[in-house]
Amino acid sequence: MQVFKFGGASVKDAESIKNVATIISKYKDQELLVVVSAIGKTTDKLEEVTKNYVNQSGDPFVYLNAVKDNHFNIVKELFETEDHPVFDEIANCFVEVEWILEEEPQDSVDYLFDQIVSLGEILSSKILAAYCQLTHINAKWVDARDYILTDNTFTEANVDWEKTEDKIRRDIPFILDEHVVITQGFIGSTSENFTTTLGREGSDYSAAIFASCLNVEDITIWKDVPGVLNADPKWFDQTELIPELSYTDAIELTYYGATVIHPKTIKPLQNKKITLNVRSFIHPEETGTKIRTTNQTLPVPSFIFKVNQVFVNIQPRDFSFIVEDNLSHIFNLFHQNRIKINMMHNSAISFSVSIDDTGENVWKLMEDLEKRYKVSVASGLELITIRYYNQQTLDRVLVNKEIIRELKDSYTCQMLVKNIDE
Ligand code: ASP
Ligand code: MG
Repeated sequence: MQVFKFGGASVKDAESIKNVATIISKYKDQELLVVVSAIGKTTDKLEEVTKNYVNQSGDPFVYLNAVKDNHFNIVKELFETEDHPVFDEIANCFVEVEWILEEEPQDSVDYLFDQIVSLGEILSSKILAAYCQLTHINAKWVDARDYILTDNTFTEANVDWEKTEDKIRRDIPFILDEHVVITQGFIGSTSENFTTTLGREGSDYSAAIFASCLNVEDITIWKDVPGVLNADPKWFDQTELIPELSYTDAIELTYYGATVIHPKTIKPLQNKKITLNVRSFIHPEETGTKIRTTNQTLPVPSFIFKVNQVFVNIQPRDFSFIVEDNLSHIFNLFHQNRIKINMMHNSAISFSVSIDDTGENVWKLMEDLEKRYKVSVASGLELITIRYYNQQTLDRVLVNKEIIRELKDSYTCQMLVKNIDE
């Protein structure tokens, strides 16, 4: 039994969906559950729909219609006749969101976000399942919301593992006896049947949840890169593929911001010793990276870059020491504003962090902090993390950079830097 996850880039157009179906068809005689993300950048576009609806800034239907056109163009290319039932199915999914948009927005933004944005995965999975059936794969569309049960923290829902495991184990193995299951990443539902989402880019995590509950041997995340590389090709010309990686190294790398796998994905797999393969959907014949229990450390230093960082330095107004009650108050404010700390450092009289510049909620955090502390801020910075660093790698990344803060332990070095010529 195995689980495959295909991300948005792997189903971005009709050609890509055909390619995914070809990969699935090679495994169709095994027990296989497929988790799929929304097509291309659909989630971003549906986020725009939600913003325009909630803020009443622009016409949300304009954005929704763009998503609709894109999906219908893909469907027309995949299914030769417009009599195919998938056309009606897709149209009906859009109607549900149109109903929401026709009413005045009354519910919370986060709730509305989940109800609207979840459309992306429903559409992609319906299209993929129907196309697989057309190509003689015995595929069955399954609604992940019947299986992944969560609390009602909309946009960042927490999984109720016990209920989820019960549901998945009760049904899915029987469906897998006869069918390739095609289901959605990213979405779940509350006990009152409201749709929730698991956090942006959360489809990897969904795949890990299914894999863990089904006790599969293997899970494969199919990507547009050959596997886990020692740096993002966006920043480095010469990257190296890491053929084998321990769970710990994988957790550390994703914790520091490597975007190849969603950070929540690895722990449930490690607990059950499920191997995670990261492979290329462009070169499916290659083996990619295997993440599993191994004593191997990374063969090469790995680099993670995060741009658009804000450095925030916090001091109590009365120059008292930063002590436990201050810190717990500060952490609480970060938590309330949903801001993740990428690097932190504390000294006797100050506490400083680096965070992503996410705009509005950062300014809200500053306001909250300033009520009790003296706060200074610097933006436009870059955070560089090197796992298994050495002097040569440090020199390589520090050309024309000034270090603002540096943290080192025996394996990892984190540096918050600024461009010198700016
Ligand atoms: N479609 C969702 C997103 O873009 C989930 C995912 O792609 O993993 O955030
Ligand atoms: Mg995505």
